[in-house]
Amino acid sequence: MSSAPLNLYDFTRAGLTALVAEWGLSPVHAARLWNYLYYESTDTLAAMSDLPARLKTRLEAETTLGRLPIARETHSSDGFTRKYLLALADAHRIETVLMRYTGRVTACVSSQVGCAMGCVFCATGQMGYTRHLTTGEIVAQAVHVDRVLRATAGSAPALAEPGAVSPHHRHERLRNIVFMGMGEPLHNYDAVMKAIDILCDSAGMALGAKKISVSTVGVIPGIVRLADERRPVHLAVSLHGATQAERLALVPAARAWPLDQLMDACRYYTAKLERRIFFEWTLIEGKNDGQDQAHAVGSLLRGMPAQVNLIPLNPTAGYAGAPSHNAAAKQFQSILAGYGLPSTVRQRRGIDIGAGCGQLAVAD
Ligand code: SAH
Ligand code: SF4
Repeated sequence: MSSAPLNLYDFTRAGLTALVAEWGLSPVHAARLWNYLYYESTDTLAAMSDLPARLKTRLEAETTLGRLPIARETHSSDGFTRKYLLALADAHRIETVLMRYTGRVTACVSSQVGCAMGCVFCATGQMGYTRHLTTGEIVAQAVHVDRVLRATAGSAPALAEPGAVSPHHRHERLRNIVFMGMGEPLHNYDAVMKAIDILCDSAGMALGAKKISVSTVGVIPGIVRLADERRPVHLAVSLHGATQAERLALVPAARAWPLDQLMDACRYYTAKLERRIFFEWTLIEGKNDGQDQAHAVGSLLRGMPAQVNLIPLNPTAGYAGAPSHNAAAKQFQSILAGYGLPSTVRQRRGIDIGAGCGQLAVAD
């Protein structure tokens, strides 16, 4: 075959069934292949022993299994976070993070190599945009984390600290995904949604769409599409500033998608889907963590079904700001509560290995 091999992780179940049918083989074999890929998370063709020789020959000749080799693996000192630098076929690399919280494990996956949005405090933004990830490259990250969980089930640390993972909460399968790794998922809408469809397929990994969060810098057309297509995933919108001028200073993409239009799109989304939006707010000391800003957020979001996730700034090489102190975060929360807005402060995880929000970047 002269053309590039097909990546099996790019196919939906229907697509794979059609491919196998084109080769003159029964859908039973397509179902078995799907089962290997997503139920058993088998990551080599060689290990798929229970497939007919004719199918294996075609698969070996015309497809690849787009497993992403680990270029580097780092574990946080508290044992709860693992960061994987994964190698893509064209030698670019991306980061995927496995985070253990009490009672759940979450994969933080990337949607692009770099990011075009240029948020000033984000390491991915600071590296610039290289390219979109394919559906298969997104799916492969989830399969990778699922395989790690299966391989390490029972060996999660049982530290005696508040919020520690108890031995009774060790997981064997991946259940939660956040699109908060490298890149802007709604800038790569089609590939991301197809990956979500594959991961949610009930005959495969069967993730619940409600266990998947897509976080956007505020790409308005993407938010409208999510609403129109009634995508059942959670939506998180990165706000960081409650006026156009303050937001623009941190988030250059606010020039293309101004705050008032963004809020219209968010209201369209919440009304159409009758679902709340999570708003993310990176707390930067002395910059956007004051009482005035908290009141401005309250006024902006008052009456909306919304929750605010406050993320104390994580350090990055290209931005000098400091994270807010706990007291400022608490005060911010109590002001928001006065507007009827629930909020959380993001648990800091993996900061020592550069795996926290906005710290993902790859030096080529
Ligand atoms: N591109 C998407 C998703 C990836 S970033 C988005 O921007 O929403 C995930 C979250 O981490 C976003 O809310 C982002 O603003 C935040 N973030 C980026 N850099 C950060 C940093 N240095 N410290 C804390 N949060 C950061
Ligand atoms: Fe891109 Fe999100 Fe980083 Fe902004 S915060 S540069 S949108 S990855």
